[in-house]
Amino acid sequence: MLSVSNLEVVYEDVVLVLRGVSLDVPTGSIVALLGANGAGKTTLLRAVTGLLMPHRGRITKGTVRVDGTDITGADPADVVRLGIAQVMEGRRIFAEITVDENLRAGAYTRRSRAEVRESYARVLDLFPVLARRRRSVAGYLSGGEQQMLAIGRALMAAPRLLLLDEPSLGLAPKLVEQVRDIVVQINRQGTSVLLVEQNAVMALSIAGSGYVLETGKVVKDGPSAELLADEDIREFYLGAT
Ligand code: ATP
Repeated sequence: MLSVSNLEVVYEDVVLVLRGVSLDVPTGSIVALLGANGAGKTTLLRAVTGLLMPHRGRITKGTVRVDGTDITGADPADVVRLGIAQVMEGRRIFAEITVDENLRAGAYTRRSRAEVRESYARVLDLFPVLARRRRSVAGYLSGGEQQMLAIGRALMAAPRLLLLDEPSLGLAPKLVEQVRDIVVQINRQGTSVLLVEQNAVMALSIAGSGYVLETGKVVKDGPSAELLADEDIREFYLGAT
């Protein structure tokens, strides 16, 4: 589905943030992307979705392919049209408009009204809480509800690949569980997922495989079970000794 090869990204023409990263998300899978703050996880997502430019970053080497098509440096709207949607870190919803309007905004690249209606019904089905609060102004939702809305809005683009940037950040344990279950459901309905998480246990509990990024390089990758059993990962992420 997604194949990133030897990717190098530079910010402001000087700061080399990704230093030759290769990563694959096979069709139908959930892949976890782990790493400390500043390792370059968000940068990798931005490089895939074409959102580096507003941050004065650019790809200086390597390729991003979707189902074999080279999309390196493609325009963000074209990337969405190809079936890739990103949920940014920090629940960036439109706070002043309603839940309903936020969801419809997520469908901006789509032409068929019937298909948009279908996605809308599917999102409300997946998130009953959003159905109940359809007419509420999004800024009044709780943190967990806003995270659901951010995910729901991305789903309105009917993505084949969903990029999630730390969806569990700042959420209470119960809500983290809910987010995890939602990601599993989305995946079961046919969407591949690249999941960026600080919460390694949560991510690896649902991902088939994972990658660990450290200062712009992949330092470990493999099946989730292998990563969960890895001494260094246990020490760093799970606080185990
Ligand atoms: P976090 O979880 O904190 O978001 P991350 O792994 O997603 O971490 P990135 O946000 O990709 O990391 O940042 C990687 C590095 O790039 C950091 O050292 C950061 O300071 C730097 N960086 C990010 N954006 C810019 C920018 N616009 N200009 C210069 N450096 C930047």
